[in-house]
Amino acid sequence: KAAFEKIAATDEHIGAYLRLNEEKALEAAQQADERGYGPDAPLLNGIPVAVKDNILTENLVTTAASKMLENFIPTYDATVVSKLKAAGAVIVGKVNMDEFAMGSTTERSAFKITHNPWNLDRVPGGSSGGSAATVAARQVPASLGTDTGGSIRQPAAFNGIVGLKPTYGLVSRYGVVAFGSSFDQVGPMTLTVEDNALLLEAIAGHDAHDSTSLADQPSSFSEKIGQSIAGMKIAFPKEFKSDFVSKDIRDAVQTAADFFESKGAIIEEVSLPHTQYGTNVYYIIASSEASSNLQRFDGIRYGYRSKDATNLEEIYVNSRSEGFGSEVKNRIMLGTYSLSAGSFDLYYKKAAQVRTLIIQDFKKIFADYDIILGPTTTSTAYEIGGKIDNPIEMYVADILTVTANIAGIPAISIPVGFDGDGMPIGLQMHANSLNEATLYQIASIYE
Ligand code: GLN
Repeated sequence: KAAFEKIAATDEHIGAYLRLNEEKALEAAQQADERGYGPDAPLLNGIPVAVKDNILTENLVTTAASKMLENFIPTYDATVVSKLKAAGAVIVGKVNMDEFAMGSTTERSAFKITHNPWNLDRVPGGSSGGSAATVAARQVPASLGTDTGGSIRQPAAFNGIVGLKPTYGLVSRYGVVAFGSSFDQVGPMTLTVEDNALLLEAIAGHDAHDSTSLADQPSSFSEKIGQSIAGMKIAFPKEFKSDFVSKDIRDAVQTAADFFESKGAIIEEVSLPHTQYGTNVYYIIASSEASSNLQRFDGIRYGYRSKDATNLEEIYVNSRSEGFGSEVKNRIMLGTYSLSAGSFDLYYKKAAQVRTLIIQDFKKIFADYDIILGPTTTSTAYEIGGKIDNPIEMYVADILTVTANIAGIPAISIPVGFDGDGMPIGLQMHANSLNEATLYQIASIYE
């Protein structure tokens, strides 16, 4: 009830929600109360959680913020949603995002824009902008986002909250609207590090419904929270210190590095030389996978169908022309082009090869270090409308987040202060695959 009261009082200004689940949520909360909150209660008993609108919820409209799925009612829950429910969590509603998770500001939603709670004239980031804003506005303590190329970590940084992109394969993608299937992961967005670890414990796990789901997984992610980091080896890549990152952010990251050093960690400068190709690799591969994944929206099987089509070809063409927004069309064209016979070797194949070089960069560092540290974003949250007409500038700003998706490794963003305008700054840390517990350990020391 408190969550719905807070949403009623504030969401008119924030715009985080596309749909509320009030009736069922209050029923679930009632059941949680009946189970009680003793030591035997399920992990997230009674905790209100918001879910990004590209994650399927049974009998609750799921749109991926696209006109294409405007009235789509899923017949089943995504595995992450079933797991949340099994852990006693209460699904409060579905939150706004860039259409099909393509974007960095949530301005690409077909339905509404979302405002940054720290300054309503600024973007909340994206694509999980609604998931970040609802937590930052203290409407709910936790949400789920998805991260294909930074969409959990960048909005977490822009909103001063904690966001984690798990190791690829740790969290099931079953029932998650596919964008770039070799990058997509669902992850937790929360106010605190410990909450984040507990939410991850609830949603992780092998799932036979996802062929890329990992069978062998750690059983706990929270076990090292609060433990000393003395002797921990931290790599600080020189590429992350460059001046495409704003001075306020560079200073905040350096202060955090000094703090870890004061706690006994060993910090050394290293190089990740292929970082500079990250956005090129990401936008070619993610768009290629998207162009394939989005073929299913043909006006026949489900989703939007054009009213004035007179033959099969027109059903396809008109439904897709009317149902998809312009950024989604950009990605489909880019992806179809890079997969086409004449360009495959030059673009898709070359990007896949450079992907391997980026993976090797990380492997080399993790042979000697526990953590890689740097900023999450190049700037703090900017004005609504500020970058919308310059897609390339927006793409390039993803340079710090995309490499974790390219390599499949976990990365976390935690709040480390504010810039001169009072906007939050995010510190990003990477660990080797399945070392989420180490990320939470060091993040908890900062907290
Ligand atoms: N900004 C990136 C993009 O537009 C990231 C998206 C994401 O992680 N879903 O593709």
